Order: sequence, then C-alpha cells, then structure tokens
Amino acid sequence: MRTLIQNGSLVRSTGIEQADLLVENGFIKRIAPDLAETADEIIDARGKLVFAGFIDTHTHFDLDLGVTVTADNFVTGTRAAILGGTTTVLDFATQDHGMTMQDAFDLWQKKAQGSSCNYGFHMAISEWNGEHAAEVERMVAQGVTSFKMYMVYDAMRLNDGEIYAALKHMAALGCIAGVHCENYDILNERIHELNSVGMRSPLGHPLSRPNEVEAEAVSRLMRIGQLAHSPVWVVHLSTQEGLEEARRARRRGQEVYLETCPQYLVLDDTRYAEPDAEKYIMSPPLRKRADGDALLSAMTSGEIDVIGTDHCSFMMSQKALGGGEFSKTPNGGAGVQNRAQLIYTYAVRTGRITLPQMASLLSENAAKLFGMYPNRGSLAEGAEADITLYQPEGESTISFRTNAHHCDNSPYEGMKVLGSISDVLLGGRLVVRDGKIAQEGKGRFVFRKPGQRYRT
Ligand SMILES: [Zn+2]
Repeated sequence: MRTLIQNGSLVRSTGIEQADLLVENGFIKRIAPDLAETADEIIDARGKLVFAGFIDTHTHFDLDLGVTVTADNFVTGTRAAILGGTTTVLDFATQDHGMTMQDAFDLWQKKAQGSSCNYGFHMAISEWNGEHAAEVERMVAQGVTSFKMYMVYDAMRLNDGEIYAALKHMAALGCIAGVHCENYDILNERIHELNSVGMRSPLGHPLSRPNEVEAEAVSRLMRIGQLAHSPVWVVHLSTQEGLEEARRARRRGQEVYLETCPQYLVLDDTRYAEPDAEKYIMSPPLRKRADGDALLSAMTSGEIDVIGTDHCSFMMSQKALGGGEFSKTPNGGAGVQNRAQLIYTYAVRTGRITLPQMASLLSENAAKLFGMYPNRGSLAEGAEADITLYQPEGESTISFRTNAHHCDNSPYEGMKVLGSISDVLLGGRLVVRDGKIAQEGKGRFVFRKPGQRYRT
C-alpha cells in the first residue's frame, strides 16, 4: 500500500518545508519536492500543514475512582483523540494498593483493546518497596519506561522518602517519573477550613489549593530529584510560582521536564462562578489569567516540554455524585480531542509560539522524552507513518455536542477555534479523512525504550 501526500507544508521543529511525502507499508519512504511516484492513494495537502502525528502525554481512559468510572473508555477516548489529530496517547496504567505493576499492565492492555489510536502506558504506582523496585525492570522489558507518582489522593500518595527511593531506582534504569505536585496536608487543612465556614461550592475548589500548594510541592520535588540524582518530570504544571521553582532547579543544573495542559493556558478560575462549574473541578484547579500567561511565555522561550490534556471525563450526573461539594466531586475534564486546535488557535495564531514549536510541543519532545523517537514524533524517511494534516483555514466552536468524547459537557464549551484536523494517517492507514473517522480500532501498543535525556 502506497500513499502519496502532495503539496503540503511539512512542519518540523527545525522549520517548514514544501514537499511531498510517500508512505509505503506503514513507513515514510521518501520526502522530496514534486515526487513523481505512483501510489494507491493520493492526498492533496495543498494549503495544509503536515505534522508528525500528535502525542498526548497524559490521558485517563477507563479509570475507576472507586465512586465512579471515567465516562470515556479507550474505544471512545481514542476515537476522539484521532479526530483531534492525536496518533498516540500515553495513558496511566494504575497500580492500586495490593496490585503488582504486572497486574496493572495486564489490566490496561485489556482495557486498551479496540483503540483507534496508538497507545502506551506510564505506570502510576501507589506503593514503593523492594518488590516494586524489582518490578521496574520487568516493566522496562515490556516497553513501559515512564512512571507516575502522586503526592496527593489517599489511594495513591507516596511519602517523600518513597518518592526519593523510587526516583533513584528508576533513574538508574534510564526511566523517568512524573509527579503530581500538590501539598497534601495543606490542601486538606484548607478544605477543612473552607468547609467549616460553609464554603462547599465549586468556588471553594481553587481556594483549597492555591498556587503555593503547587509551588511548595514542585520545590520539594526539585530537591528530592536533586538528592536522588534523577531527572524529574512535573505533570500538569499550572502556576507561575511552580514554574519559578522549576526554573530555579534548572539554574542549579538539574534536569527538569515540564508538562502543562490546554486548560491552564486558555481557561481561568473565574469559571468556578458558572452554574455548571462542577465540570471545571480538576486538580490542579484552573488558575488566574496571569498564570496562563506565564505558562504561554514559558512555551515561547522553550521552557515547556510537552502538552498533555489530562483527559479524565465525567458526565454531569457523575459530577453530581459530589452533591455539589467541591471536595467530593470527581476530578477531571474532557479534552483529548481539542488539544491541537486550542494550541493552534490560542498559542500559534496569537503569536506566542511558532508552528515549528507547535510540532515540538505536541509531538517531537514527547517522542524523545518517552522513548519513541525517531520512529515517532518526526517526519523523516524511515519513520512510522503517523501523520496529521491540519487545515489552517476555517473556524468552528467547541461543543460537547460535536466532540466525539463520550461526555455531556466540555470545559471549552463555546470556545472558537481556528482550523481543523482534516486527515490522519496511523501506521500509513488513512484513519481520518476530511475530518471524519475512516477506519477505527487500528491502534497498537507502543513499546517504548528509555527516553532521550535531551535536557542534559
Ligand atoms: Zn492526570
């Protein structure tokens, strides 16, 4: 099977090039201007931007919180992902108490059957002891080279000593761990304070975990990483104060990778006054406009590495399980389909980042950091043909009604976006054509190697 993509503008971290691209048997075979090749299928990409398929570094599909299970499973979530131009998601396989990492890996492999985009797993761990240490190598042997630890959530949290020991061990094996940075004791105390003065509505959510709650935890993680001689990856960074702590660590010479999410760039905490504000309850919470601005500036200067959605969707009826109380409402929002359009509209078209930076942030950096480069994350001869075509013309409005998410709400409801995903190739197969699903269920597990430490 040969597919020829003609007349497109190829966008890479290094620049933009007008060229044709020949795909054969799932791989990029040739890239050159005006290729005179025969092909089974020809895609006219005139006027379109051609990117290496986007990689979402942070999703939660089919996650059981105990009280309820996320609205999107892998079938619905990856269908939405591919329509949004994302060809690989890295989801969090979760090792709950009493489970081995192998149990979690096997369970997530089952859950991911029927996915419409490629998928890999970060292993989220809730315990750390000698047995778990031995398991890390077994995970690496199965293509899982990144891990996640939480400083919060009763079911998941590790203490600082455990985080230190785990980081040390993982770094020695070439692995990287992401950490959810919030100060558990302080946010719980603040929830208690707010509840005791009768503040239980969503307005209390950002008040319970102000910027300092994240910044303190980022600062602590930086020092733990320094002691462990380990790189660290801060997941869903949301505040300028947290960013400042990461900058300080980098100035000391530490190797720090930063992820942020579209919601922290384009939304702010005034949303908690809206009538259906439960849909904005996520942790970290939405912040001030100035925080989004600081994060966008950090994208401009190349300080942010990757953008994940933290897609973790719940129906409004599931959000209502909290009885209107912010501290009991399931945390998370839908967004896996909207990432590229939001970044293109609110970061590229506003002049905050260039198109090559968009290619780095949505694909290349993630492929490097998480051990998929140069097979993915690059438009190069020999790479896997995961390719996303973006039509920069046109305008539309985000709505849960038109999103493919299995979710009756969207934090981005009513927001205008510029351009759209027109076509997506997954392993050389055209899976999205003219903005519509052409083939589903073609996603495969991505076996990852230890990542490239590109900030050393
Ligand atoms: Zn998350």
